[in-house]
Amino acid sequence: MKVWIDQKYCTGDNLCEELCPAIFTQLDDGLSYVKQDGAVLDKPGGKLSMAAVGAEHEDGVREAADQCAGECIFIEE
Ligand code: SF4
Repeated sequence: MKVWIDQKYCTGDNLCEELCPAIFTQLDDGLSYVKQDGAVLDKPGGKLSMAAVGAEHEDGVREAADQCAGECIFIEE
């Protein structure tokens, strides 16, 4: 599974990081980004910054995508 965030629609409520902090984090710009192996993929963000998700984090990522207020967390299987 891979995941990315469309920051254009991120509300900044940080729910994704609460649900799955291994994969999501919020930066000083108030928007959330995905992480891979602890590195934040914020350059450039969006679909060009897609993170591979370990099996142990897949449930958390799915829950975050389901609950994301901006509907801007996208999963690619
Ligand atoms: S849950 Fe969605 S809207 Fe909320 S901070 Fe994360 S990406 Fe942004």
